[in-house]
Amino acid sequence: MILVVGGAGYIGSHLVKELVEKEKVVVLDNLSTGHRAAVDSRAIFVMGDLGNEDDLQMVFRSYPIKAVMHFAANSLVGESVVNPLKYYQNNVASTLTLLKVMEKFKVKNFIFSSTAATYGIPEVDVIDEKTKTAPINPYGHSKLMVEQILADFSKAYGLNYVVLRYFNAAGAHESTVIGESHDPETHLIPIVLQQLLGQREKVSVFGSDYDTADGTCIRDYIHVTDLAAAHILALEALLAGKKSAEIYNLGNGLGYSVKEVIETCEKVTGVKANVEMADRRAGDPARLVASSAKIFSELGWKAERNLERIIANAWKWHQNQQY
Ligand code: UDP
Repeated sequence: MILVVGGAGYIGSHLVKELVEKEKVVVLDNLSTGHRAAVDSRAIFVMGDLGNEDDLQMVFRSYPIKAVMHFAANSLVGESVVNPLKYYQNNVASTLTLLKVMEKFKVKNFIFSSTAATYGIPEVDVIDEKTKTAPINPYGHSKLMVEQILADFSKAYGLNYVVLRYFNAAGAHESTVIGESHDPETHLIPIVLQQLLGQREKVSVFGSDYDTADGTCIRDYIHVTDLAAAHILALEALLAGKKSAEIYNLGNGLGYSVKEVIETCEKVTGVKANVEMADRRAGDPARLVASSAKIFSELGWKAERNLERIIANAWKWHQNQQY
């Protein structure tokens, strides 16, 4: 049985939907930002808190857990700057509690959701795993701290782990039964699509004076189903007995500017966006594009779905959003 912590969240719920085809799954989530309706009915759902040792012990005593996949985190850069306590508490301290209980129950396989925010403002155009990590906000720091904890636990206790550093997760499940639903929504693609549906007055482009071809920020958007597939490959490697203390980037290697994303949304949907140029958002690097060559060569993963597919799936979801 696989424990998916945070399996009711955006990325966790997409992973669970794929994983239930292969494994028995138990989801632990406190529903602070996740949605009960997002959890596939084939998974066991336990309402509980990652930071609560009793909740964790109950799960590990009740089910024969052979691996843990950890998606339960706060992930808003801006919020982390104004409320770092929340980020270090939920992302670092609670993860430490989880690792402690895992060690107690001798569960040795762990997959951890990390982020491109660990790289800060990179000095290279395409980021690989050797690129220097230098977070510029508490969110990025909180994830990098856990990466360090994992490296130390691996050496001391023989923990096998895979860290997956996501670039910009986007899109929705092909079935459109699940998709992205944040409150408040801060991400570019859902904001644009909500505007096209008349749910928002306008889209603000945060900065048009960056050092990029059209002046807007460039990001590497990756379909959430491709992310889920990478997790499953990583899990299969660990369950097959692979000793691992690895970090992999997950992106599709292509950068799109904010303007290009908006244009692609207009093209895919046939609706024109109401766009205004606005000031830069604090903490945004001009360009974040991943090399995923390492995970391709070691686990055979690459992104299969392009930006148009991401937007087409997200558009279907937003037109008939269930939660
Ligand atoms: N962005 C924007 N307007 C918005 C939301 C986002 O211009 O309403 C920009 C943001 O500044 C960044 C890019 O879109 O350059 C992607 O932002 P998002 O919040 O989706 O992801 P992030 O890169 O922060 O993880």
